[in-house]
Amino acid sequence: MSRRPDGLLNHNILDADKGPQDACGVFGVWAPGEEVAKLAFYGLYALQHRGQESAGIATSDGQRILVYKDMGLVSQVFTESDLATLPGNLGIGHCRYSTTGSSTWVNAQPTLRPTKYGTLALAHNGNLTNTGELAELVQKLEPTTGRDRGATTDTEIMTALISLQNEKNVEASAIAVLPQLEGAFSLVFMDEHTLYAARDRHGVRPLVLGKLETGWVVASESAGLDIVGAAFIREIEPGELIAIDENGVRSKRWATAEPKGCLFEYVYLSRPDTTIAGQGIHATRVAIGVRLAKEAPVEADLVIPIPESGTPAAIGYAKGSGIPFGIGLVKNSYVGRTFIQPSQTIRQLGIRLKLNPLREIIEGKRIVVVDDSIVRGNTQRAIVRMLREAGAREIHVRISSPPVKWPCFYGIDFATRAELIASGLEIEEIRRSIGADSLGFVSLEGLIQSTQIEENKLCSACFTGVYPIRIPADMSEGKMRLEITEVQGI
Ligand code: SF4
Repeated sequence: MSRRPDGLLNHNILDADKGPQDACGVFGVWAPGEEVAKLAFYGLYALQHRGQESAGIATSDGQRILVYKDMGLVSQVFTESDLATLPGNLGIGHCRYSTTGSSTWVNAQPTLRPTKYGTLALAHNGNLTNTGELAELVQKLEPTTGRDRGATTDTEIMTALISLQNEKNVEASAIAVLPQLEGAFSLVFMDEHTLYAARDRHGVRPLVLGKLETGWVVASESAGLDIVGAAFIREIEPGELIAIDENGVRSKRWATAEPKGCLFEYVYLSRPDTTIAGQGIHATRVAIGVRLAKEAPVEADLVIPIPESGTPAAIGYAKGSGIPFGIGLVKNSYVGRTFIQPSQTIRQLGIRLKLNPLREIIEGKRIVVVDDSIVRGNTQRAIVRMLREAGAREIHVRISSPPVKWPCFYGIDFATRAELIASGLEIEEIRRSIGADSLGFVSLEGLIQSTQIEENKLCSACFTGVYPIRIPADMSEGKMRLEITEVQGI
């Protein structure tokens, strides 16, 4: 597998237009007799949308843990022969988008640390908000090593903290450390014999348990269970730790649940074929679109989605408005991360690398174009321009989430506050900035009602600025990154 000589990931050729970036996907499997590395591979393959910078798998044969990880997509990182070098009865996997620490090989997961009772491998989805305090704890426990392990992530810090506990095994160490972690974390981790999974007390990021005929699976989303033929059993509860070994599944509650599930999972982050809290994500997004049509109606000839994330809401908008649904933009599904740097000529094509308009559908029509969110506004501006060039008579942009005004500290990398178009501009100013004839957003109330989850059980901080989990007072976005990159030598 090739990567740049400096170890950095090559740029996404569409970086200028990127929307919200997911934080990570995690997968765990306990299935003696099965090819666990292949199950982990396919699990990560289904979770690829949650992180495309690096991928890794750790497996144990009961004697030792082996890890294989590299930069790139799951399908780029692993070959059949790589997976054959990962034998075992249990394994964990991870695909990463970096929200803390840089996008380098050393920060790819799973992390690995020796402990006094074996080895610990760990994979994390989410973001901790008290990383500085935790790093101080690690330095107290390990003051003399002075090692620079090179990793710069909150995940490395929590791995170190668990491995340095003076307890009898990984399970007891995790129970000692989990209550000290603040922020968002859905974890899978393992020693040589046991698979563990844990979720923060707020359950910000999803994590589900599934059953194979001969074992168990844990995944960020139920789509990660489906791909390996595992039956959905239940969600890992907020504040719960489960352990899986030859004795079956054990559950321990290490904190009282105070649910604050991420509202953005419903809007964009999760796959449409995933189920959260018994609700299919596709159906929820269609319901949001129906609501959007009621809240932001317009006279038009055709509703089109920005594929693919805008598709269910566009279906809903068409249903709610009675305006026909159609496909006006075709996505080049195979463009995304590439290891070939585009030439200047290609780069200038921008959004056209990703989407191409169907002129014969668009020409002369009043178009409603539906997207899931506006972050910087670059994508919508480029699309409006593209639709005008393709002959659209009017372009009405409809967004199936409220304006994103605040950064996320719990694992999603939107942009800095200054980069968020809605943090500085009113709706009419955004409309002018993107060049649309009209612009409408679904209301927060409409979005929440569509999820069928009680408002007080959701995080909606990126829309409201009301953060349900403590953010240290001095933690600006820049400061947060600084604190973490300063935590070296653990
Ligand atoms: S701030 Fe937004 S993206 Fe982050 S956890 Fe809350 S709802 Fe989700």
